[in-house]
Amino acid sequence: MSRIDRYTIQRCVLRDTTAPEGVMFILDIDDGAIIPQAVAFLCPCGCGIEIYLPVDGSNVETKWSLSLNDGTPTITPSVAMRGGCMSHYFITRGEVRWC
Ligand SMILES: [Zn+2]
Repeated sequence: MSRIDRYTIQRCVLRDTTAPEGVMFILDIDDGAIIPQAVAFLCPCGCGIEIYLPVDGSNVETKWSLSLNDGTPTITPSVAMRGGCMSHYFITRGEVRWC
């Protein structure tokens, strides 16, 4: 596993694998309209952990929101690991910015 600098998106309603390196899965629910519920991606530090974040529009309370600009994902606020690799970063227009 190597460090990841940017993510492209892949939308899916169901998934049967963890996200490949450099790909952010956007997990949609098809509720008549397609609504993003969560994102899943490998931690950019290269530790191999898959990060799963529920996002606004999901059925659970969450602090993260996802916006898509020209097919690139922006996650706000930042993502901070409280254990393990302790990574802390922003993902803005698909690019990883370390804190
Ligand atoms: Zn990590």
